[in-house]
Formats: sequence, C-alpha cells, structure tokens
Amino acid sequence: MMNIKTILDRALFALSVPKCVCCRKRLNYGELAFCPECYAEFEENKSRNCSRCSRVLSECDCSNEFLRAHYTRRVVKCYRYRTQDEGSPGNSLIYSLKRDNRSDVLELCVRELSEALLNSVENPSRYIFTNVPRRRSAIVEYGIDHSALLAKELAGSFGAEYIPILASKAKKPQKTLETSDRFKNADFYIVKDVDLTGREIIIVDDIITTGASVGKAASLIRSLGAKDIIAATIAIAYRDS
Ligand SMILES: [Zn+2]
Ligand SMILES: [Zn+2]
Repeated sequence: MMNIKTILDRALFALSVPKCVCCRKRLNYGELAFCPECYAEFEENKSRNCSRCSRVLSECDCSNEFLRAHYTRRVVKCYRYRTQDEGSPGNSLIYSLKRDNRSDVLELCVRELSEALLNSVENPSRYIFTNVPRRRSAIVEYGIDHSALLAKELAGSFGAEYIPILASKAKKPQKTLETSDRFKNADFYIVKDVDLTGREIIIVDDIITTGASVGKAASLIRSLGAKDIIAATIAIAYRDS
C-alpha cells in the first residue's frame, strides 16, 4: 500500500513532467517543448521563405519599412507566425514562452534564435543584448518577462553582455490595438542610463507583429548613442513585399 509520501512524490512527478506545448502529449526526457510529431511539423513551418528576399526566414535578416525608419535595418527571425495557424507548433511555442516559464521552452527558443543569429550576424558576442520590455501588469500576471529571459540566455550562449535598458508602462496589450495606435501605446522608458556610444545592440522580442514595440525600443536605444541596432525575434507576423 502507498503511503502519503509516495502518493505525493508520484503526484509531483506527474505534475513536473512537461507536456508538448502543441498537442499536450507527455514528453520524454530530453525532448524540448515538442513531441517528435509536433517538432517535425515545426521544422516544416520553419521552411517557409521570406517574401522579400526568398531565402528561408531563419537565414534572412530583412527588416520592414517601419523598422527601417526606426534605426532597425536588420531583423533576425526563426519563422513566420500567422494568426490563422492557431494551434500550430510555431504559435503554441510563442504562447507557452509568454505564459509558462518552462526551461525546456526557453532552451528551444534560445537554440533556434542563436542559430538564426549565426546565419546573419558575424560574431554576435561583440553586441550588447537587451530586450523589448513587457508590460508591468503582464509581468505580474505571468511572473516573468519572457523576452528578458530570452535575451539574457541568448547573450550568455554567445558570452555577450546583457543589459536590461528599458521598462514598460504601457497600459494595453499591443495585440488589442490597431497598427496606428501601437507606437503610442509602447510607452517605454530608460531604466538604465548607460552610454552606448559606438556600441552595437541586439534587441530581443518574442514576436514582431508590426514593429511598433521594437521601433519604439530602438529609438530610445539610439538616443543613448547606439551605432547599429539589430532586432532578433522568434517569429515575425508581418509581410513586407
Ligand atoms: Zn505534440
Ligand atoms: Zn528576407
């Protein structure tokens, strides 16, 4: 007969075993975020090409018009996020990254984004990494600023410096707003008044939908003297042809 401790141990084990972020199947040890079937579909998602340069997205660093006008000439990304792909592995990965604080999800995102960075950026270790800040109320709700975690881990993987430069007092989630209102809503401010004169910066975000948040962040970072700014994101949701 099982005593209370054994029952508790088993319950805790069952709770701690992560499930596939997409189909919720239990994962085996060593599988990150996806079961093998969903991972295969994820790889398939990632084979889509850039509408501008026709390279595979993870190998292109095309920006969009709005971001080019906001000091961001290059955008490194892993794949395209499409709202109509609700429930797809790529979309599920972003949802989980935002909400779950799972180390395997973060590890997969770091791996994907560091591979994409190495495709486009020579010697990422010389850049300062920072992130688009999360709304304060969202940090309270989910307990994490996932883009900050991602930026910090990415920097670590290259032996580069990570500096949290910005914070957000935005009132509303960007996804609830029209494109024209997003730049205004991205109410960021500088928390670390660091001299970035002549420095090269990589701004990390989970997803770039219009570029309003990254554009606002890049403008502030530019005001600190940064020379070159690259955006790095798990997924883009814009089309720029
Ligand atoms: Zn699955
Ligand atoms: Zn491209």
